[in-house]
Amino acid sequence: AGPGKVLLEQAGATAATLPVVIMFDGRVLENPSNTQLAEAIGMRTSPGPGLYDVAVIGAGPAGLAAAVYGASEGLSTVVLEPEAIGGQAGTSSRIRNYLGFPTGVSGEDLAVRAYTQAWNFGADYVYGNPATGLRTQGPERVVTVAGGDEVRSRAVIIATGVSYRRLGIPSLDALTGAGVFYGAATSEAKAMKDRQVFVVGGANSAGQAAVHLARYAARVTMLVRGQSLADSMSEYLVKEITSTPNIAVRYNAVVTGGGGTGRLESLTLLDQASGAIQTVPAAAVFVLIGAEPRTQWLPDGIRRDRWGFVVTGPDLMAGGYPAEGWPLQRAPMLLESSLPGVFAVGDVRCGSVKRVASAVGEGSVAIRLVHDYLRGNRN
Ligand SMILES: Cc1cc2nc3c(=O)[nH]c(=O)nc-3n(C[C@H](O)[C@H](O)[C@H](O)COP(=O)(O)OP(=O)(O)OC[C@H]3O[C@@H](n4cnc5c(N)ncnc54)[C@H](O)[C@@H]3O)c2cc1C
Repeated sequence: AGPGKVLLEQAGATAATLPVVIMFDGRVLENPSNTQLAEAIGMRTSPGPGLYDVAVIGAGPAGLAAAVYGASEGLSTVVLEPEAIGGQAGTSSRIRNYLGFPTGVSGEDLAVRAYTQAWNFGADYVYGNPATGLRTQGPERVVTVAGGDEVRSRAVIIATGVSYRRLGIPSLDALTGAGVFYGAATSEAKAMKDRQVFVVGGANSAGQAAVHLARYAARVTMLVRGQSLADSMSEYLVKEITSTPNIAVRYNAVVTGGGGTGRLESLTLLDQASGAIQTVPAAAVFVLIGAEPRTQWLPDGIRRDRWGFVVTGPDLMAGGYPAEGWPLQRAPMLLESSLPGVFAVGDVRCGSVKRVASAVGEGSVAIRLVHDYLRGNRN
């Protein structure tokens, strides 16, 4: 048996209890929740009782930047993150266009560095549970957290980003994690050695996933709904894809079904141009077809556009005047939502540029605005 199996046997764990985490001190966690895992490695899962200057919701690049700037500029800062530090960027195998990394940086590396940086400056992280609500209590903003905790703070920065759009095919959704993956292929790529895999999507994230997978898989087929990659993908990636011999691109292609016993085995594809339907063997499919903002938890008082992105700053001004319901004499600040003292940064914001650098930039700008807000001349 391999070393993994031996460890599992020693720990008395069975396949039914996977995933199993064996800690350095011998503790065994069977199928732990994010909160249990966080507690086991000594991370904080509840906020402090006091009033923070700023609560940052989400630890993707935007939230991490806000945490670094907030904590380094003397604001008592708390960051809430239910899943993995680094957000979408953390799942990228190689970010090649972020300033200062001429040969690229893995998303994981960038996330760990940013996390540590904010931590060193004194930011508090509360890990494992999502924010579920936000309300005003006099001058305070109170964020409710799944599990019952509340975070009190003087200002809030919403940095909850976006989540992957699903295929919406029940037989494939049932195999999520068992051959059907949403988002980047980083952690799964090595397991795809010598296999036939598919990537759904035609934008940069799909291109990056295909290039990364092609290092391991026998063949990667990109399924693109449109007729070209050029409209939706950076030129350097299009070149990389066309020059990689084991990547094929199928245009006009839509996934209409698929399945397998316990694991993905096949996909059903529709060729929209010819109407032909084909079932192909597939070891895995990686779905990267766009994203939805994670704003369902916000109260009605925080205005969103029709897709759910948070509207901020000048976009709240209709005909030069703040939107109806804006309670103050002054206009909303850049990045400020329709609830004073609550800001939105990064991918979750209406009109944002979906890049790591812009998310980081907005996170840092928001802290400057929080200073202005807290100084009182902006209340
Ligand atoms: C595969 C892939 C590759 C990419 N490659 C590049 C690249 O090469 N270059 C580039 O510039 N950009 C790239 N991008 C885009 C870039 O990653 C995003 O623009 C960036 O991560 C946005 O940062 P963000 O902090 O706004 O949001 P996200 O990264 O989406 O982070 C949001 C965070 O908020 C958390 N959250 C969500 N809901 C809640 C809640 N209710 N309570 C608390 N926390 C919550 C999430 O768990 C997440 O950690 C890539 C994206 C993907 C998916």
